[in-house]
Amino acid sequence: MEIIETAELLLRERALCNHCLGRQFAMLGHGLSNEARGRAILLLLVIEGSKRIHEGDDSGKNILKYAANHGFSKLAITTLKSAGIIIEETENSCYLCGDVFKSLDELVHQIIKKLSKFEVESFLIGIKGSSKIEEKEDELRVNFKLKWGESIRNELSREIGKRIMKIIGKNVDFEHPNILVLVDPFMNIILLEANPLFIFGKYRKLVRGIPQSKWLCRQCKGEGCPNCAGTGKMYQDSVEELISKPLLKKTKGRIAKLHAAGREDIDAKVLGLGRPFVIEVKKPKMWKIDLEKLEEEINQNADGKIEVDTLHLSSKEIVKKLKSSGQSTKVYRVLVEFEQDISEKLIYEVLEGLIGKLIHQMTPSRVMHRRPLKLRKKRVYNLEFKRLKSNCIEMIIRCQGGLYIKELLSGDDGRTTPSVSEICGISAKCLEIDVIGIEIGEL
Ligand SMILES: [Zn+2]
Ligand SMILES: [Zn+2]
Repeated sequence: MEIIETAELLLRERALCNHCLGRQFAMLGHGLSNEARGRAILLLLVIEGSKRIHEGDDSGKNILKYAANHGFSKLAITTLKSAGIIIEETENSCYLCGDVFKSLDELVHQIIKKLSKFEVESFLIGIKGSSKIEEKEDELRVNFKLKWGESIRNELSREIGKRIMKIIGKNVDFEHPNILVLVDPFMNIILLEANPLFIFGKYRKLVRGIPQSKWLCRQCKGEGCPNCAGTGKMYQDSVEELISKPLLKKTKGRIAKLHAAGREDIDAKVLGLGRPFVIEVKKPKMWKIDLEKLEEEINQNADGKIEVDTLHLSSKEIVKKLKSSGQSTKVYRVLVEFEQDISEKLIYEVLEGLIGKLIHQMTPSRVMHRRPLKLRKKRVYNLEFKRLKSNCIEMIIRCQGGLYIKELLSGDDGRTTPSVSEICGISAKCLEIDVIGIEIGEL
């Protein structure tokens, strides 16, 4: 069917604003707004009506009447008047949108006011409350065999997005917008959802006695009590807090969460190239930060306790990959003390008994209170040693991530097997442990 005939039928039945009329032909003509499409179609209808009147065809009057009353065309009224026909203007509103497009500028103004509390680089508009209209649109599409249209949801989000972009000069981003603007233009509701900021980096922990994440006081659970000197924490510092403090200050975010490729014990250092992490800032107020400067500030503020580097912007997807990097390879340096002197021969037996072997570990007794009971199987790839004393050696252990090292040495009363203690028959314990390498492969 011709566009003009379809439009004539449509307007005979339903009052439609330019946007809603044009939207039924949205796929025709690139780079046009639906409003411009609707206006053009109406103009054509008026010309067609006028032509028919000139030819003495009475249907011309009807077209002009629909265009006037249902298409809100002032031009149709003047054209009728020039042919000596006076019609009363009726008070219609658009059958589909209820004239929502008329109040769009005001709505955009309100959104920009709300956005001004943030320093956004990108945003995305989400439309709510349009489902009833979309149902009506579907019905119309079936009844009038319309096949070129798009949904009002599409048009609204595009129109609002375009207007905001023009005013604030920031872009719509469909993948990773800083802020999601949820708009119900029919109820005049605007909700802003600030997306978290993710920053990737690597940290080295240069001193012992710092947990990876904030550890709440066991007695008061964070409230603050004499036991924790009112801090609510078991330890004054954590890697998480040392990284997040300067970051939260910069981004004015509420909280920051550290996601890391595994975790070390409190008493272990992390050396070498460091441990990969992503820090997530929830509800930030800005997303564009000078990462070099941030790196400097974190390191200065940490005062030799930790060090970060290679900071760059990251995403939720990388967090997922980081967390599933349990299969990564870890390298540890440990100081092992034996209960009695140990011969060179026995040490070589230990190496032979562990290198390349799969270690069976039941959840260690020291973490049993916070981890579920589970059997893990992790492999030792390589071991090297250096004797320090007759009962003390330094060992470099290269193994699969997730292997509990202290238990690999002690055997944890048989929960870990095979172990250093088990193989040499002398009880061994870990005096010092450092993470010196974490290889996580491609992220
Ligand atoms: Zn409309
Ligand atoms: Zn406390």
